[in-house]
Order: sequence, then structure tokens, then C-alpha cells
Amino acid sequence: MTVLTDARIVLPDGVHHGDLHIADGKITTAAAVSDETIDLGGRHVVPGFVDMHVHGGGGASYQLGRPDEARRAAAFHLAHGTTTTIASLVSGGPDELRDAVTGLADLADDGVIAGVHLEGPYLAPDRRGAHDPALLRAPDLAEFRRLHRLGRGHLRMITLAPELPGALDLVKEAADTGVIAAVGHTDAPGAVARAAFDAGARVATHLFNAMRPLHHREGGPIAAALNDPRVTIELINDGVHVEPAVARLAFTTAGPSRVALITDAMAATGMPDGDYRLGVMDVEVRGGSAVLAGGTSLAGSVITMADAFRQTVVHLGVPVHEAAEATSRTPARALGLDTRIGSLEPGKDADLVVLDDDFRVDWVMKRGRRV
Ligand SMILES: [Zn+2]
Repeated sequence: MTVLTDARIVLPDGVHHGDLHIADGKITTAAAVSDETIDLGGRHVVPGFVDMHVHGGGGASYQLGRPDEARRAAAFHLAHGTTTTIASLVSGGPDELRDAVTGLADLADDGVIAGVHLEGPYLAPDRRGAHDPALLRAPDLAEFRRLHRLGRGHLRMITLAPELPGALDLVKEAADTGVIAAVGHTDAPGAVARAAFDAGARVATHLFNAMRPLHHREGGPIAAALNDPRVTIELINDGVHVEPAVARLAFTTAGPSRVALITDAMAATGMPDGDYRLGVMDVEVRGGSAVLAGGTSLAGSVITMADAFRQTVVHLGVPVHEAAEATSRTPARALGLDTRIGSLEPGKDADLVVLDDDFRVDWVMKRGRRV
């Protein structure tokens, strides 16, 4: 039994000053005896961050499903407060995706990651962002079923462009088999995006980025997603992918219960400026942004969830408890994990982040153990 005293506990309905009790890896209600007391001196404690879209960090990538490298990436983000990770794979060839999903399913069994997100390869060529155009293809139900089988229940999400032939059938298949279909890297008009949400898609992948922009006479996937209460909106709030006025728009229209802050971080996160790779693509990292070599296409981000949280509180002015909802509870709910994680309520896993006075990470706890 551990008790964190003099804590500013960030709960879904606001910030509560008091003590937080932890026993057997869970948040619990007050008990008589405690073995360990940690005085937080009035610091904020927020739920561990849930990153539903991340490719790597600390120089390591999930893309090839190599266990040592994937463990390094997860450990890097854990040290920055991400206690739950969905490992994302950019478009790859059939063999590459097969090997990656197989390797990552083992790590999900071990609890290192909470699942796998296939970002592609069924994406719109005109909205490919940093995906290799040679690897993009039409939705292939047989390939999806194979990958789903290899994932042994750990394939949690697939991003696809709903305007491609066969996409809506794949959305239905995903929804029926417990995989979240996400609309992204798409040139779909609003009607097609709405059809995808009606068919079971429940997430919009990094809203605003790599999709048909919002036009007042054709709202496209952006209006379709913002207007649909069933849809969780991923947002890369790194100050680069989406300007503050637009990030604020997501919070004012969809609200923190539907905005999931993500990193979309690539391997270079936490590393010096230099030349890196995202999948097979060469990427240049300079001064806080990652772009395709020789071009201007953004290639993922170089932020942590802690950066996303801080950016949202300090630069957008979103209240702390609403920013915490967007970094933890909303993605947990989108993933169907909110009975176990996502808030600091009794019965949930003791996954938490203690912040300093400047909203930076002080220390991290996962399942009751300090990292
Ligand atoms: Zn991504």
C-alpha cells in the first residue's frame, strides 16, 4: 500500500487536492495502513498517457517488429509518461507487415504494448503523407484477415481511405471482428466519410493532416468526423502539424471526450537533429519537425505524449483535467480499455504521471511501480 499525499489529483470532473491511495497495482480508496508515503508537495498527478498512434522513439521503431528495438521505443515513451501504447506501422509490403504484426503480437502478450495499428497500406495516393506510394494498394480483405489472425487479438486498429474500392467492406469486417476502423490518409468527400462511419469506422486518424481539407461547400472527412458523436478525433498537437487555432477548433467542436491527443512520433523522437527513416522513407529532422528528405511533407512528429499534454495546457489554454481526458481517458475509451485505465479512479490500474510546476514529467508509475 502506497499513499501519495498533498497531491493535485486530476480527475475527469476537475482537480482535487488530497491523497491518492495505491494497492496491488491499482488505485484504491483510503485504507488504514500504508507502507509507503510519498509527499507530492502539491504537484499535479494525471493518469498515465495512452498513445493510440506512435511509430517509435528514442532512436527505435516498431516498423519491423523486432523485439529489442520495439522494447526500446516503448521504454522511451514510458519514461515520458506513456503507460499504454498502440504501436503503429506505416504502409509496408505483405511480408514486412506479416513479420511486424507477428513480432509485435508477442510484445503485446508481454504487456509491453497494448496492440498494433496498421496505418495503411490501403491509403489514398494523393494523401499519402510520408507513406511510400509504391506500397499503397486497394483494400485486400484476404490480407487483412491474415494479419488479423497473426495478430492473435492484438491488431487493434486499421487506418484506411474509405473511397478506395472495397474499403467499406473492410470497415465492416474490422468492426465485426473487434478491430477499430479509422478514416485517414483520405481524399473522400463528406458523403463517403459518413458512409464509413455508418459502416462502423470510429476514429479519424490525425484529423486535418493527410486528408481532403475542409471546404465550405464540401466539408469532406473533417466535417464528417467533427459532426459525428460516435467518432474519436486523433490530433497531433505538436505546434507544427496543426496550428493552435485549428487545434482549439477540435476542442471546441468535438470536446475533450472525443479528442484523443496522439504523438504519431517517429524513431527520431528524443534524438538529435539528423537523418532518419520512417518505414522505407528517408526523413530529415530539423528543429522540432520531421519532413521527407528533399521535400516538405511532414513525416510523423518528434514529440512525446508529455509534450502534447503540455502544449495543450500551456499553449491552447485547455484546462488541466480536459487535457488529461484527451491524453488518457478518451483514447482509452476509443480502444475499449477504459474499464481498466484512463483515469485515476478507484479500481483502475495505478498508471500515473507526476508533473512538476511547469507541467513537465517529474516521475511515472505503471501498475503501481515507479518507472
Ligand atoms: Zn502515423
